[in-house]
Amino acid sequence: MSQGRLLILDDDAAVAQTIASIAEDLGFDFQICSEPDAFFGWVEKEWPTHIALDLVMPAMDGVEVLRLLAERSWRATIIVTSGIGTKVLETVQRSAAERGLPIAGILPKPFGPDALRALLGEGAKLPIPTTVNSFPHPSISESDLDDALLGDQFVVHYQPKVRLSDGDPTGFEALVRWQHPRYGMVFPDSFIPLAEETGQILPITYRIFDLALSWFSAIERQPPLSLAINLSQRNLTDLHLADQLLRSCTRLGVAPSRINLELTETSAITDRAAAFDILTRLRIKGFNLSIDDFGSGYSSMQQLVHLPFSEIKIDKSFVLSMTESIESRKIVDSIVNLGHTLGLTTVAEGVETLEALQLLRELRCELGQGYYFAKPMDGAAAIAWLAGHGAHPETTIDLLPKTSTKPAG
Ligand code: C2E
Ligand code: CA
Ligand code: CA
Repeated sequence: MSQGRLLILDDDAAVAQTIASIAEDLGFDFQICSEPDAFFGWVEKEWPTHIALDLVMPAMDGVEVLRLLAERSWRATIIVTSGIGTKVLETVQRSAAERGLPIAGILPKPFGPDALRALLGEGAKLPIPTTVNSFPHPSISESDLDDALLGDQFVVHYQPKVRLSDGDPTGFEALVRWQHPRYGMVFPDSFIPLAEETGQILPITYRIFDLALSWFSAIERQPPLSLAINLSQRNLTDLHLADQLLRSCTRLGVAPSRINLELTETSAITDRAAAFDILTRLRIKGFNLSIDDFGSGYSSMQQLVHLPFSEIKIDKSFVLSMTESIESRKIVDSIVNLGHTLGLTTVAEGVETLEALQLLRELRCELGQGYYFAKPMDGAAAIAWLAGHGAHPETTIDLLPKTSTKPAG
């Protein structure tokens, strides 16, 4: 059996070939790319489990490649190689780790076969890739999604949303994962686009809604928490959406006013009239609407003004970079102000550091979500997390050690 798929990005053919032969000996399938465009093409197509990356290349440097991999939440185990000094490599490793990229290690060139062998072997032991996309499939098909629905393979993880002023949890966002019998945990970016294309997103959304709602209905807490569910634009062609969601709420005894439906990309909708009707009906039934990824280009000002949203979620790309980039900070600042002007609750997504949290507080952003508080967790872990984070000043997020935010997988 193959140990995994290794994708090598190195402009030095001899080095790439050396890495390939060692990997092949260890039972890996491999692919060599000498420039980034081809590399990202392979990443999308072949779902590598391991990536060997040269830091210094003419077309695009490895740091940029790492940043793009992080942006796409790519979860292959990464080995960084380079002839550049160890100090630089260490800095790269640290910054990659902060972005949540699983770096197995760094290989200062020239390296011997044993060093690489150790890292490829090590990779298998890394906590993230073994639980996440441990051996993802290159081609998920429509019938795989049917099997997933029939076999109850979708699970929902929950990420807390907290009030930035005191760290108190105000709710959770439901994020779907696919517990695949062979490939392990598959993340939404890997199958939601296909489900949207085939229309299977409709039954999948109902399944997620029911799973999340039955988990949520068991939580008793004062003041009551909110639950956010993601909708695709395809859901806004489904004329039964509002009635179906309301039925689930009634059955499970959850008031629609506690549900936030998060939306992006409504600009791409073909039948805008139907979509606006569906959104208005959801609002009339008491659901809250939230505009997701604001500023990313998919969510626009026009939608915000014309649709009955009650919350604005600032795209995480700005929040992640706001501590280093003055531009990002200014964008976050103006989105927060826009939200306040329109009477919307403002939420920052992608809060990873205390520094970002402090900046967001200064900018008077109200709510936050991100790895600094907690990663998405399975239902049981989310309940346990909630028990330790309460409406008491002494348990606010700031005072808690960061180790309490361990992901559940
Ligand atoms: P999203 O709605 O923008 O969800 C937030 C994503 O950011 C999640 O990725 C979450 O794990 C990640 N995230 C949270 N905090 C941080 C942080 O501090 N730093 C970084 N770097 N990332 C953070 P996830 O779970 O992989 O979901 C990806 C996307 O898939 C979601 O983006 C959403 O668009 C879509 N999705 C997830 N669940 C569903 C669903 O049930 N239905 C639909 N239609 N789409 C879903
Ligand atoms: Ca969302
Ligand atoms: Ca978002």
